[in-house]
Amino acid sequence: MVCGHHHLYSTLARGMPAPPTRPVDFRSILEQIWWRLDVELDLETIRWSAMLGAVEALMSGTTGIVDHHESPNAIEGSLDVIADACAEVGVRVVCSYGVTERHGVDGGRRGLAENERFIRAGGRGMVGVHAAFTCSDGLLDDAAGLARDLGVGMHIHVAEGPDDRDAGRRLRGIAAPDWLLVHCVGLEEPLPGRIAHNPRSNMNNAVGYARPARFGESVVLGTDGIGSDMLEEFRLAYVAHRSDDVTASPETAWAWLTNGHDLIPECRDDSVTWSYDMADSAWHVAFTPGVRALRVESATGEVLLDNGRPTRVDLAEVRAKAAEAAQNLFRRLS
Ligand SMILES: [Zn+2]
Repeated sequence: MVCGHHHLYSTLARGMPAPPTRPVDFRSILEQIWWRLDVELDLETIRWSAMLGAVEALMSGTTGIVDHHESPNAIEGSLDVIADACAEVGVRVVCSYGVTERHGVDGGRRGLAENERFIRAGGRGMVGVHAAFTCSDGLLDDAAGLARDLGVGMHIHVAEGPDDRDAGRRLRGIAAPDWLLVHCVGLEEPLPGRIAHNPRSNMNNAVGYARPARFGESVVLGTDGIGSDMLEEFRLAYVAHRSDDVTASPETAWAWLTNGHDLIPECRDDSVTWSYDMADSAWHVAFTPGVRALRVESATGEVLLDNGRPTRVDLAEVRAKAAEAAQNLFRRLS
C-alpha cells in the first residue's frame, strides 16, 4: 500500500495537551493544534516522529509514504532526517517541505531552499507548498518554477477549507499534471494533477465531503498524518462516498487506493501477507474491519515485517524513544 499524503511530523501529536482555546472551525484547528505543534519541532523530535510513523506504516502493510513536512524552527536538514528514518525502517518515502509565508518571507525562502537542497542532493522528493492561502503569488510562482527545474511535481494542500477557497483561481495556469493536489474539498473546476483524498481528516476537520469521484481517475488516498492504515482509509473513503451516493460501489475507492502505486511504483513489487484473504478485494475489505499485515517482503526479497513486527528496528525501543520525544514536545506545548 502507498499513503498518498502523510505528515510524519504529526505522529507524536496524539495525547498532546489540549489547546488554550477550543477550535471551532478549520482555521482555528490549524492555529490551535497544528501551527502550535509544528513550531516546536526540532530535528530530534522529527526523527522519532518519522521513525514511529514509518514503523506503524510497515505494520499496516504500507511500504510507501508521500510525506509533506513543516517545522518552521528546524527547516534545514529536516527532509534528510525524515528520509533517513524511513530508510532505517525500510519504508520508501517521497519527501517535501511545505513552504509558507506564515512566518515571513524569509521562512518561505528557507523552505524552498530545503526542497531544492534535498532534491538536488539526490533525495526523492517533490516541492512542497503548505497552501496558496499562506503564500504570496510570488512564492507560488517560484515554487512551481523550482519544481519544473527539478523535474518533480508540487505537493500542495488545495481548497481544504474556506480560507483557501481562492486556491483554484490562483493555481490555474501554473499547476501541472505531475502535481499532487491535496483535499480539493472546495475546488470547483479541476486543475491539472492528481488529487489526494483524505476522508478521515476531512471528517475530523468538518470541512465537508470532497466528492472525489467528480475528478475521474486521478484520485489517490492519503491519511493526512493520521497513521498509515490504508485499508482503513479505503473503508472510510468507501463509506464517505456511500453516504453521499447510495449507489456508490467500493470498487471506486479501491481504485483510488491502488492508484497510489503510480506515486511510488516499486511498491507494486513489495508483497504483504494479510490476516485475511484479499483475493476478492474491494467488497470484502470494505466490510471486514481489522485486516492486519502479518508479513511484508520487499521487492528485493528482504523480510521487513515478520509476525506483525518490524525486523530492522526494535519496536519497543522505537516506541520508548518516541514516547520520550513526545513528552518533551508536550512540555514545550503546555
Ligand atoms: Zn495535509
